[in-house]
Amino acid sequence: MRSTMKSLAVLLFVACAGMAFTQTPSNAPGTRGDVQTFSPIPGLDKSLMDATANPCVDFYQYACGNWSKRHPIPSDAPYSDQFYNLDQYNRQVLHGILEKAAAGDASRDANTRKIGDYYASCMDEGAVQQKGLAPLQPELDRINGLTSKEQLPELLAHYQLINVNAFLGFGSQQDFKDATRTIAVAAQSGLGLPEKDYYFRTGAKDEEIRKQYVQHVANILKLLGESETQAASDASAIMKLETALAKVSLDVTSQRDPNKIYHMMPIKGLQALTPTFNWERFYSTAGSPAFTEINVAEPEFFKGMNQEIAETDLPAIMAYLRWQLVSSIAGSILPKALDEEEFDFYERKLVGTPEQEVRWKRCVRSTDRALPEALGKAYVDEQFPAASKEKAVRMIHDIEGAMDRDIDLLDWMSAATKTRAKEKLHLIANKVGYPDKWRDYSKLEIVRGDAFGNNLRAVEFESRRQLAKIGKPVDRGEWITSTPTVNAFYNPSMNDINFPAGVLQPAFFDATQPDALNYGHIGLFMGHEITHGFDDQGRQFDGHGNLEDWWAKEDSDKFNQKAQCIVDEYAQFSVGDTKLNGKLTLGENTADNGGMRLAYMAFLARAAQDGIDLNKKSADGYTPIQQLFLGFAQDWCSEWRPELERLIATTDPHSPDRFRANGVLVNTPEFGKAFGCKAGQPMMSVKACRVW
Ligand SMILES: [Zn+2]
Repeated sequence: MRSTMKSLAVLLFVACAGMAFTQTPSNAPGTRGDVQTFSPIPGLDKSLMDATANPCVDFYQYACGNWSKRHPIPSDAPYSDQFYNLDQYNRQVLHGILEKAAAGDASRDANTRKIGDYYASCMDEGAVQQKGLAPLQPELDRINGLTSKEQLPELLAHYQLINVNAFLGFGSQQDFKDATRTIAVAAQSGLGLPEKDYYFRTGAKDEEIRKQYVQHVANILKLLGESETQAASDASAIMKLETALAKVSLDVTSQRDPNKIYHMMPIKGLQALTPTFNWERFYSTAGSPAFTEINVAEPEFFKGMNQEIAETDLPAIMAYLRWQLVSSIAGSILPKALDEEEFDFYERKLVGTPEQEVRWKRCVRSTDRALPEALGKAYVDEQFPAASKEKAVRMIHDIEGAMDRDIDLLDWMSAATKTRAKEKLHLIANKVGYPDKWRDYSKLEIVRGDAFGNNLRAVEFESRRQLAKIGKPVDRGEWITSTPTVNAFYNPSMNDINFPAGVLQPAFFDATQPDALNYGHIGLFMGHEITHGFDDQGRQFDGHGNLEDWWAKEDSDKFNQKAQCIVDEYAQFSVGDTKLNGKLTLGENTADNGGMRLAYMAFLARAAQDGIDLNKKSADGYTPIQQLFLGFAQDWCSEWRPELERLIATTDPHSPDRFRANGVLVNTPEFGKAFGCKAGQPMMSVKACRVW
């Protein structure tokens, strides 16, 4: 249910284009229920624009002012935006593929049978309901069988395999300082609220959320059979335990700093931090390959966790484990009452979604998570033309060319650092569309009619695949996301950019629409991901993906000064009563600003090469440069429920959409010129920020 907010940032240290929330929305819709109203159409969408707005006063309003009228938030979603619409469209395509796969007979190939049976089992709501708590019982028995805290390592190792968010995270990661190898990592985890600060922030809204949370935990325990009084007392003990864990956890802003989540030590070092927790038994139950060193992402957390386990009595720990067990398991495979209760807190109260989406949408999502490359291959075969890949790759080369020229033109960077920057730029790998080699699922057993078992086996299959990497060389061809995903990524350890087939569609991209729109829409994402390699976080890694300082001291100082301008600019924006966190959003804002500039430069070069007349208005009434800026701004057309807006403003490294559009354009004098804006108008900054 709440995989949207798992906090193992270190296990997937990547930056993306859309808000992190869109990566794995556990919930999302059409207009209501089964009604699908969106299909991707290429070209400038003038129906989204508010022609009465002045582009020089509020360009977001001008480009997106009619969004809410055209695409109101559906009753089963927390927001509506371009990512969301495209995701809905993709889910409809996947729905067709899965219905066909589920209906097929014995002649189906192995992967078609697996995705079809997984989906069909998930869709069988009657069977899930009829089984009730029975599938969960063996897991509850494991907790009931605890007689001493000394048995926790075995249980928590098992929880790592089935992805239960209790106390800690354990897995593998690419070594920050030696990108050729995969190492073991232990990281903080175990919170039920989205982030550390949710346990401590003062104010009526936060106090209300904490109260609702404790009530929710109690409701879940009651549904597992506890009495009213017992559930209330357990819920308050759980809140106390989680608050203590939150206290020793690292905050979201610090988690963006690779040096703050990298502490390599011999395994006896971790053992010394947690004297009462037997790691040998933990590793052996998890079945990880042998290793001698581990990255303890947050040493202070493990010290605190050890103390907290010592100070909490066993019944309270058992209640906490029961709670985290149920809450970590996908809602659709649990009995309706538990599913509804989880929805009520995490979706209705926390992000404001009034109702649960229909089952097929949830089961499509769940199959995509369980068998990403089996379903992803079927998706690509049906949905992704070769021409799209060719065109996208050519655009990326144009954007890389623009970055190369941009580095040459910088007046603040020394020649030596420029050489290193270019070296890094030329080493960026481009992953476009789909992986060259698809993952093998032959060892994953999918049983028709066993929704619960299928889910747990798929989760465990993936956990074991990740653990088996420890000590092995890094596979640079691996993909971190499924191909229908509507997002784009930069991974600093791989130094690669990722554009899955799912995002390479209108409105973001279309091989047949005017180049100006493609460069404004997806060209911005391409520039954004490449700039991530050079933002406050990415710049700390070299071209091979190693955490290594390649900057001359004075260049580094100048970078920080320029970045501070962005920090200050975005810290002035607010949603409701919540101010943006300029430091948390610095990397994304830097990538947005740099990305826009690169898309603009790349388009000018492409226009010169292809003979595009920049002064000639199209049939839509705009010049190519105006189209470029409209395409850019329309990437961010959206409407959010206030609850989601608040969650994003406090936890997500991306700024809310309105600021992603206007915040960049006030820094871009070329925009003001294209729309004839005058000095003194709101979209014309007196103090434009620029890093790249
Ligand atoms: Zn990003």
